[in-house]
Amino acid sequence: EAKAAGKAQYQFYSQTMTLTAQRKADLRARLAQAIHDGRMAVHYQPQVEMHSGRVVGMEALARWPQAGGGWISPLEFIPLAEESHLIHDLGAWVLRTACQQLVEWQRQGFAAWDLSVNVSVKQWEAPNFFALVQGILADTGLPPERLVLEVTESVTFTAPQEARRLSEAFAALGIRVALDDFGTGFSSLSQMQDLCIQQIKVDRSFVQRLGDTPKAQALAETIVMMGRQLGMTVVGEGIETAAQRARLQDFACHLGQGYLIGRPVAPGAFLERYGK
Ligand code: C2E
Ligand code: MG
Ligand code: MG
Ligand code: MG
Repeated sequence: EAKAAGKAQYQFYSQTMTLTAQRKADLRARLAQAIHDGRMAVHYQPQVEMHSGRVVGMEALARWPQAGGGWISPLEFIPLAEESHLIHDLGAWVLRTACQQLVEWQRQGFAAWDLSVNVSVKQWEAPNFFALVQGILADTGLPPERLVLEVTESVTFTAPQEARRLSEAFAALGIRVALDDFGTGFSSLSQMQDLCIQQIKVDRSFVQRLGDTPKAQALAETIVMMGRQLGMTVVGEGIETAAQRARLQDFACHLGQGYLIGRPVAPGAFLERYGK
């Protein structure tokens, strides 16, 4: 019933989002308070090697827990945070928390796990972002080679030259950059020229239509092949069925993520399930 309560609250907030500016301001104030009080959380979703099923890492996903159980979805609160400076505090907190968590898991013997963290375009464009990431790695002791920053194509819209330079600077440090939700935007292909990226994440809208039509299948296969030919690691997102997983395996997609493999869970549950 905690889940039901969470869902009810989620719907409540979904409605308030479309109500008044006052309600929105209230919600934003509550988010600021939650961030300030350290009441946010990070859940982790496993990423596996497609051919072996072995867990190779995880994606960190922000959660806003609510009193009485459940949480508000990041699809609601990330846009709210992005409308203000809150995204900087929240983004830095998620990155630091996840890096600390991975270092803890490394100490427990999982030194080869990789950590992917989502980065909002506003964070990416902040003048201190590179220094912030460097500082968090230095503070936590996480080797840069373990970190993947997930961005969307919007990071190149305002300042493509700077975006390229920043991605190159991360690569020089050993930090990888992944293009998230690949294939959904307007300029995903040109992004692959403009940015120094090491990974693409095939958007789940492609994965989930695998098997529907020959066209859907050809699209997904083409995206995987293209990523492979460019020497990138290709991650299939949103795998929910064994058939979808099998298709991606046929295409030689490197990594996979989705409810079939594992839902995002709290850190304790993650170690319990995948720490073997
Ligand atoms: P994303 O980065 O594309 O993350 C994947 C989303 O798909 C997650 O939703 C995950 O729970 C969900 N998902 C994973 N497997 C499946 C599946 O098999 N089926 C379906 N239907 N969904 C699946 P979540 O956690 O609600 O996050 C939504 C989005 O919010 C993320 O999409 C990301 O864009 C954003 N987000 C989450 N955490 C952060 C964060 O710390 N910072 C920033 N800037 N954005 C975040
Ligand atoms: Mg992501
Ligand atoms: Mg994604
Ligand atoms: Mg997304």
